[in-house]
Amino acid sequence: MINRRSFARRIAVSFPLLAALADRADASQAQQTAAPPTPPPGKGQMDGSPLGDPLPGQKWRVHDRTRTQPRKVAPGLPVPTPSAPSDAIVLFDGTDLSKWSRGGRGGVAAGEPTWKVENGYVELVPGGGGMMTKESFGDVQVHLEWTTPVGADASRVGQNRGNSGVILMGRYEVQVLSSYNNLTYADGSAGSIYGLYPPMVNPCLPEGQWNSYDIVFEAPKFDQDKLVKPAYVTLMFNGLIVHNRVELLGITSREPIAAYSPHAPELPLSLQGHSGPARFRNIWVWRLWGYDA
Ligand code: MG
Repeated sequence: MINRRSFARRIAVSFPLLAALADRADASQAQQTAAPPTPPPGKGQMDGSPLGDPLPGQKWRVHDRTRTQPRKVAPGLPVPTPSAPSDAIVLFDGTDLSKWSRGGRGGVAAGEPTWKVENGYVELVPGGGGMMTKESFGDVQVHLEWTTPVGADASRVGQNRGNSGVILMGRYEVQVLSSYNNLTYADGSAGSIYGLYPPMVNPCLPEGQWNSYDIVFEAPKFDQDKLVKPAYVTLMFNGLIVHNRVELLGITSREPIAAYSPHAPELPLSLQGHSGPARFRNIWVWRLWGYDA
């Protein structure tokens, strides 16, 4: 009995091109399965101390190092070819950032975005801040695709590797992180609702491959200063539901624990300017008008 790889190698002896491809596949495999490098002091994989009391309704603290890691699964669906529904609001089609300003958490616009557009994607420029949409949204489906490119500094691990995020209303973050082979605290991995809930499973693809997010976000509702309906998030991550209409406890926060603070019914969407490297493409939004609207 021979396995597929050794069979490919036997065939490759006679075909140099196939041999090269087999070597490349081996190199890619090795890159993804190699032990994480030793990080510099203060930049450990699990950096982000557990803080304070357990989260309301949970037994875990924010960034709890002992929280169960999401089970790794291989997604079965291919990432869609970039395109948008005909009535979607296309925020980035691969060519320009005319729908965006520089800015991020908190929602304060600060001129033109500094992120780099090339080859149909937009890449986070570390130190360049985040990006926020010019338009505001309430209840929405948000679709985007993201990747953390290969070739990043090997000493960058944990939260320092591929960190960005989709920040709904500039307040509620769905984490973007290199999480195929990069351990961190569970509520900070790719697909987590940062500091609150890890994804139910981890279907993150290897660096260099595109992941897809479809986020269904129900905005919180306020009556003056009073919360009358919390926010809910559903996240489809590479075709898998990793959050199923989970109730948010408030604004993304480490300490104090997440709580709500009243805000407008519609606010801009942000992409987080963290450490990167991270790339995004095919970003569109579809408003949830409801039935008969
Ligand atoms: Mg982040």
